[in-house]
Amino acid sequence: MKTLVMKFGGTSVGGAPAVTQAAAIVMEQAQAWERLVVIVSAMRGGPRERGVTDALIQGARTAASGDGQTYPALVTDLRVKHTLAVAELLADADERTALLKALDAYLDEFAVFCHSVQVLGEVTPRAMDAISSLGERMNARIVAARLRQDGLRSEAVDATELIVTDRRFQQAAPLMDLTRARTQARLLPLLEAGVVPVVTGFIGATEDGITTTLGRGGSDYSASILGAALDADEVWTWTDVDGVLTTDPRIVPDARVIPVLSYSEVGELAYFGAKVLHPKTISPVVERGIPLWVKNTFNPTCPGTRIVREPESTPGTVKAVSAIKGLSMVNVEGRGMMGVPGIAARTFAAVASQGASVLMISQASSEQSICFVIPTDAVAGVIAAIEEEMALELARRDIDRVWSMDDVVIVTAVGAGMRSTPGVAARLFGALAQKQINVVAIAQGSSECSISLVVAADQATEAVRQIHAEVINGK
Ligand code: ADP
Ligand code: ASP
Ligand code: MG
Repeated sequence: MKTLVMKFGGTSVGGAPAVTQAAAIVMEQAQAWERLVVIVSAMRGGPRERGVTDALIQGARTAASGDGQTYPALVTDLRVKHTLAVAELLADADERTALLKALDAYLDEFAVFCHSVQVLGEVTPRAMDAISSLGERMNARIVAARLRQDGLRSEAVDATELIVTDRRFQQAAPLMDLTRARTQARLLPLLEAGVVPVVTGFIGATEDGITTTLGRGGSDYSASILGAALDADEVWTWTDVDGVLTTDPRIVPDARVIPVLSYSEVGELAYFGAKVLHPKTISPVVERGIPLWVKNTFNPTCPGTRIVREPESTPGTVKAVSAIKGLSMVNVEGRGMMGVPGIAARTFAAVASQGASVLMISQASSEQSICFVIPTDAVAGVIAAIEEEMALELARRDIDRVWSMDDVVIVTAVGAGMRSTPGVAARLFGALAQKQINVVAIAQGSSECSISLVVAADQATEAVRQIHAEVINGK
């Protein structure tokens, strides 16, 4: 039985015209595949617009700070937005009334949650997940209703019934064995009956049924989790660009679509800031070798990007460049560190104690410094933790200081063809030197298909453009 899992991102189902287009794509694929599962995000008007999820989060945050005005206004905005879409999408009065009633119930829930948050004066991660999950719940119902109108048998399904996660609210990880069992038990009977389930992206639930979310942009991850759970033949994510591009089109408007990438190449790109796929999307499909496609809802005849196990590479070529912002580089320095075993291990244990994730590490070969890059909002806690751990070394002056360089960006060049090809780093440095861009640190990804450079934030855009122009386009 050929199974396809397709996910539509926020702009791809961001209003009546987009939903109409997405529904046409679903209708077409429903003819071509024996089993089809659709996953949807919450609505987002356009690539640069604030989406429904952002509005829900804003409602919760403002309520927590004691503001009782903003969330009711947001409820009104969201009601107008969803009602307009439903009015345009559905002709049948009964379907429309039933759907609007369901949407109203979710919006009332939003208002009640925000009111409680305001009374309590804080929003816990668990409450935030309950609130931010509402956009997907509303949109899954809208899309399923539209598909029914188009003549397909379709039913909205909450991923809380399918994806079982741990209790790390806002950043939950799936428990794959349980997820597989529940997904198959709930979806297979529908699929066998020829029904197309429309599942909420982004969300899951703990074993005891408390709503969690997989992290911002997590609907891509939902698609690959469900693809793996159903042993799908392919997973497609539909978005608002032609596929994975050579770089962020908001930085370089003439970025080109990359026809084929390997899991590790796209994994590096996503990890280092390419928003087109959530960084965790790759891992569930890798094990089973399920091909992943990224396609454009608004240009469906363009084949998009195919992501598979084996890289297709020409030696020495760089395929794409990405950038990730909001970072700081922490330095642990001192001549007395040389040859002392365990300094690096203790440093990173201190970092881990703060729950900070390290994006990149580089150590000077003289062993006189360790430097690593972390999100800026974790810096104060991390430096304090290292200073405490190294109190003795600092007192003895084996370590001179622990400090951070803020406002840095990691720019990452990706391409399997870079593997064991000398000279790629030199070409990257050369391209940046032409524009007097200083490289603060460098590291090579463990998969050997990426090189990351740290540059000052105010030079990052220029750095990406320069690498795109000189190294990717210039070859
Ligand atoms: P969706 O809502 O469909 O998940 P996202 O906004 O999350 O869409 O991701 C798609 C966006 O990612 C594109 O509109 C583009 O601006 C941005 N982007 C950043 N880097 C890349 C890249 N290398 N290739 C394609 N898109 C990218
Ligand atoms: N709607 C969620 C978000 O805005 C998930 C997603 O779009 O993938 O983060
Ligand atoms: Mg996305």
